[in-house]
This record gives sequence, structure tokens and C-alpha cells, in this order.
Amino acid sequence: MPANAPDKNAAPPLPEPLRVPVADSHTHLDMQSGTVEEALAKAASVGVTTVVQVGCDLKGSRWAADTAAAYDAVHATVALHPNEAPRIVHGDPDGWSRQGAREPGGDAALDEALAEIDRLAALPQVKGVGETGLDYFRTGEEGKEAQERSFRAHIEIAKRHGKTLVIHDRDAHADVLRVLKEEGAPERTVFHCYSGDAEMAEICASAGYYMSFAGNVTFKNAQNLRDALAVAPLELVLVETDAPFLTPAPHRGRPNAPYLVPVTVRAMAAVRGIDEDALATALGANTARAFGY
Ligand SMILES: [Zn+2]
Ligand SMILES: [Zn+2]
Repeated sequence: MPANAPDKNAAPPLPEPLRVPVADSHTHLDMQSGTVEEALAKAASVGVTTVVQVGCDLKGSRWAADTAAAYDAVHATVALHPNEAPRIVHGDPDGWSRQGAREPGGDAALDEALAEIDRLAALPQVKGVGETGLDYFRTGEEGKEAQERSFRAHIEIAKRHGKTLVIHDRDAHADVLRVLKEEGAPERTVFHCYSGDAEMAEICASAGYYMSFAGNVTFKNAQNLRDALAVAPLELVLVETDAPFLTPAPHRGRPNAPYLVPVTVRAMAAVRGIDEDALATALGANTARAFGY
């Protein structure tokens, strides 16, 4: 990096360690710099002793399963991301997909990919199916049908294997809740990077859905998330990084990683008005219960 470059790509400093260990309930180690060993060691040094590695496409899901098999501290989830399913059906004009599905594959290609997710979901180190759901921010009208079909298939896979469902819901709250209700949600369902308001938190609470809060709960403009966190039942609250995305304040814009979970935990404890250790104790137990490990 040139000497005059801004420091925005530099890793934020290590936070003060948590006294009670917690899990990062949703991360993407395969999109972060450094090795898995380095990421796990750095996280463990500040009390983040477990991570849930989330797959977003076939390649990432296989990687998640392999990584969870290799490290006790890692659990895996497998899925086609809500933005991946339409790419498989309609092609990927932007070339974003890491599996290179640039040619339209149609419904048959989606079925084939779902069959592979189904196979991976049976593995013991795979604790969840996701991230799946609906994303109306990145996927336009033409992709909605494929996205919803994929979401419904993931729900079915999660239920059949008795695995936790991990929901990605971006600008699609009502439809996500509707599809869950129509299909019947699995016993354990997690809204990752919870983005609803307090009213939706009440709906999630009554359905028993876990709400996982990410670094954006610390953002100045995210009072709605803090309001939701304030009313969510403590036993349904999780914490995550969604790293490398959503780095908590005051490090917003720099690369995120599991070792930054304590920053978000402290902000969450302040919102709830409870002691950091008490919150960490709940988060640790909740994540283990949510993912059945
Ligand atoms: Zn997501
Ligand atoms: Zn994610």
C-alpha cells in the first residue's frame, strides 16, 4: 500500500477480550484475508471460540462442510444464497458468481444444485441450511420466482434433515414471513443479520425464531435495529459478524472478521442495559441451542 493511502483496508485492532466465550453465529471465512487458523486463533484470543461458517453457493457450501470437518471450532451451513438461485436459472451477466454459472441453466440447473445442497445438508458437521430466503434489494422482479422456489426447497431440506434454517431477508420481511408460514418453519430458524423493526421482532418472538444481530446494530442510523434488540426475548438473541461485511462502529468500512464480535456484544449489552458477561453467557448458550451443537 502506498504510504499516502488511507488506512481503510487495515484490520481494526483487537478489542478487549470477552470474559465469557461466545460464537460468531454467521461468518464467511472464505471471503476474508488470511488463513482459517489465523482467523480462529485471533477470534479465540478475544473470547470468540466458535464460528458458524455459512455457504452461499455450491463451492462455498462444500468449503464450509470441509472446513467444519477439519476444525472443532467451526460449524457449517450450506445453501444457495437468495441472489445465487436466480443466477443459476437465468445466468450471471455480471460474472459475480464464484461458481461461474454465467450461462442460463434454467430450472433443471437449479434442481441439480439443490440436490447437491441436500447431500451436503446430511453431513454431521453441517448444522444448518442457509443462508437462504429472499433478497429484493439485489434481485429484481425477473429473479423473484427462482428465488422463492429455492427458498421453499431449502426449508424442505432443513426440515427433512432436522437442521437449522438460516434466513437472509433483505427488504423482503413480509414475504419471508409468509413463505415460512406457508411451508411451516423448521424447529430452529435464525434470521441472520436481523433487519426488521420492533414490531417484526414481536412476530419472530412469538414464532420462536432466533434473531441474530450484526455489526450494523452499532450504526448511528440503525435505531430501528436497537429498538428490535431491546424487545427481543434474550433467549432468542444471537450475535454475528457476517464478515467480511458490516464491520461494527467505530471501524465501519474496514474489513470485518470474527475477532470483532466483542465490539458488537458490548454495544448490544448497552442497548439491553445488561452486564456484558450476562449477555455473553446468553449468546453462547443461545447459539449452541440454535444450531444444535
Ligand atoms: Zn445474508
Ligand atoms: Zn452472510
